[in-house]
Amino acid sequence: MKNKDGLLVVFSGPSGVGKDSLLQRLLEVNPQISLSISATTRAPRGAEQHGKDYYFLTKEKFQEIIKQDGMLEHAVYCDNYYGTPRQPVEEGIRQGRDVILEIEVQGGAQVRQKNPASVSIFVLPPSMRVLSQRLHKRGTDSEEVIQKRLAKAREEIQKAEQYDYVVINDDLEECVQEICEILSAEKKKASRSGKLIEEVLNNE
Ligand code: 5GP
Repeated sequence: MKNKDGLLVVFSGPSGVGKDSLLQRLLEVNPQISLSISATTRAPRGAEQHGKDYYFLTKEKFQEIIKQDGMLEHAVYCDNYYGTPRQPVEEGIRQGRDVILEIEVQGGAQVRQKNPASVSIFVLPPSMRVLSQRLHKRGTDSEEVIQKRLAKAREEIQKAEQYDYVVINDDLEECVQEICEILSAEKKKASRSGKLIEEVLNNE
């Protein structure tokens, strides 16, 4: 016996905090989870593939989808549009899958407002010092870009209190475990258990 609908999960955190590694590990330990594939107007980076990492769209196509109410949420971030295609998310949830949206804070606010049953998790670094060390260690960006990312990170972290949960990514395995516990507790909320309670009552 289980509740049928899956969870809609918003997952945010600053650049360099380790969201991708956390999600990769989370998918390995929890096969019930699906990751939403976002649409964006930015150009593909490195080996990124259309339909796997993002749907890479023109601005015109993106705006047309917004007009048709085909995006669950969308935002402009660093001069590009980013958005969550609505249909696959709603279908996944109906099929009982927990669908995770890895999105920035403006989109996170839209999802919380339009979907009060969603669960939002913000990933914090242990400190700004550690975040700076991690961004430097990646070795992919110039000092100027790193300073910009750190300033953006401060802005984003100031919004963390608007989320339902915050976790600190210090030890990756511990952090994944905490996220699993959050999702597991959310599923047991009485407010989500209408169908379950009905099944118990009808099973005489
Ligand atoms: P990047 O260009 O580095 O892949 O992503 C930039 C930012 O956009 C990240 O913070 C990422 O979480 C966010 N993002 C990715 N997809 C979406 C989306 O569908 N909606 C929103 N609102 N943000 C997104």
